[in-house]
Amino acid sequence: ETAVGYEFLDECQAAALAMRRARTAHKGNCGHCLVVAGSPGKTGAAVLAANSAVRAGAGLVTLALPEQLHQIAEVKTTEVMTVALPALENGFLAAQARPVIEGLLAARDVLALGPGIDRHPETVALVHGLLESATLPMVIDADGLNAIAEDRSVLQRRAPQTVVLTPHPGEMARLHGAPIPDVAAVRIAVAQEFARTHGVYLVLKGARTIMVAPNGLTAINGSGNPGMASGGMGDVLTGIIAALLAQGYPPWNACRLGVYLHGLAGDLVAGEQGEIGMTASDLMERLPRAFNRLL
Ligand code: AMP
Ligand code: MG
Repeated sequence: ETAVGYEFLDECQAAALAMRRARTAHKGNCGHCLVVAGSPGKTGAAVLAANSAVRAGAGLVTLALPEQLHQIAEVKTTEVMTVALPALENGFLAAQARPVIEGLLAARDVLALGPGIDRHPETVALVHGLLESATLPMVIDADGLNAIAEDRSVLQRRAPQTVVLTPHPGEMARLHGAPIPDVAAVRIAVAQEFARTHGVYLVLKGARTIMVAPNGLTAINGSGNPGMASGGMGDVLTGIIAALLAQGYPPWNACRLGVYLHGLAGDLVAGEQGEIGMTASDLMERLPRAFNRLL
């Protein structure tokens, strides 16, 4: 694997990105994240993303999810506020949720979209609609990415907003429109081409996650371990990057610091209890300690 002129992110580089909080900070100026996530069977993805935004320092977090899951989310969260969104009878997000979400966005700083939303055509239409109308920074993950892969031209029609996409290799292959092995063999080049062509920040996840800015700047992450190969880890990363954007980190710094912190929290878990059996919740709980180590 070759890449000319990329930055290798180690603890020293990441520490240079971490910002101390002002003595006078209050929750109103530490950013308010809106997380739109979840479908039946995947309430956990939504809750992980929202709670991770809290653990990564967002001032306030609202989780908006299909109405059938709203009471469950109320039980599973404490610091997070929740909103019930219009959904289809089967519990998938409906296109009618769009005006409700747009109303919420008026008083939010960043939108995290996609964890556990599944792939119903109405949900795909909702993702496309939000890309066309929302003007605040967005982090799009999971089935939010698969919705984009169904019609990549939506990235050309989108409103002028900062977009961070966080695909794993399977999602990257669908976005790129090629089989996974073809993408894996040239993953840096694929990530660079996609980010530049579509004007997005691209975080291509895996062992040694690759980050690319719209201008082609490229970084490779040095933190993390194979214990992180378990369900829910990506949902945590989505919440972290959204929280950093909400706190005012420039997008390129939010991507790099977020990815590094995520891996560092995983390394803290591995140091305490080993890699095997690590959960996304274990990792999420170490985020404050990971952040503190960089400050
Ligand atoms: P997802 O597949 O969306 O749940 O995302 C998995 C997350 O865990 C990504 O942030 C990956 O970078 C991370 N991860 C998975 N496996 C490894 C690994 N072997 N080494 C480092 N990070 C990993
Ligand atoms: Mg994922």
